[in-house]
Amino acid sequence: MNTSIKAPKVYLIGAGPGNPDLITVKAVKIIAEADVIMCDRLVSPEILETYVSKNAEIIYVGKECSKNASTPQSVINSLMVDYARQNKTVVRLKGGDVSVFSNILDELQTLRENHIPYEIIPGITAALGAAAYAGMPLTARGYATSVRFLTYYKSEILTDEYWKELAGTDDTLVFYMSKGNLAGLVEKFIRLNISDEKKIAVVEQATTPYQKVYTSSFDDFKNNFKGKTFASPSLVIIGKIVNLHEEFSWLENAAEEGLYFKSVENGSLIQKTQNFFEYAV
Ligand code: SAH
Repeated sequence: MNTSIKAPKVYLIGAGPGNPDLITVKAVKIIAEADVIMCDRLVSPEILETYVSKNAEIIYVGKECSKNASTPQSVINSLMVDYARQNKTVVRLKGGDVSVFSNILDELQTLRENHIPYEIIPGITAALGAAAYAGMPLTARGYATSVRFLTYYKSEILTDEYWKELAGTDDTLVFYMSKGNLAGLVEKFIRLNISDEKKIAVVEQATTPYQKVYTSSFDDFKNNFKGKTFASPSLVIIGKIVNLHEEFSWLENAAEEGLYFKSVENGSLIQKTQNFFEYAV
């Protein structure tokens, strides 16, 4: 299929969960032709180093919830519009997939209002990357019939009724952006009598060279991980399928410590064409 770019537009692209090879061929072709890349924090640095044209401008518009640091969405929106109006091909590159916890709606509305053509290219979301790289099929037959993508970065996101239902369901539960409230999450499920057939897994930096998977029963979690701060980003997976990790995991936990994704410094907007990675701390 011919994916060559005919008119300037904005491409909203999912870069996959971390490992730079886990991006689509279509995304790579478009990234190579783009004039401007507006990039989130959870995008593999190697993707930018490998595929972005030397003449392209890379703008780092990272957000980091745990640090409350972010480039305001309004700034991201107006940059996107400004560059597109200059007849540039703009790639808005986001970690994982663009439609999972990624503020894409704001950006789509802005593009719509400004009559700027766009295309959306999917990516592998963290849940799918983590499940594959931890050997835990999310809907394994006999273990779970559905999977839910949730978040618990603020406790009021889910109602009490919903929590009760969550504790009882056999669905696999995947919590994004929730490592900061993990103790509360575990306690909540214990109070709601979650079955002890269900386990909890925390997958740190899934699919990167620093991936580590920790699993535990709910009852032991507090003792096992007292005072532990999980690395960013981490994904929490809950359900019977976590029991499959031991048998089907194909990757050892990383021996080395380190952070694959750069941290956001004061949420500042960073713009640079060359030596981007020395600059974007
Ligand atoms: N659009 C992204 C999610 C953005 S929200 C996607 O589809 O994956 C950011 C959250 O995603 C993080 O707080 C973390 O919970 C999860 N996440 C993203 N990349 C991850 C990775 N490599 N390993 C573990 N969790 C990850």
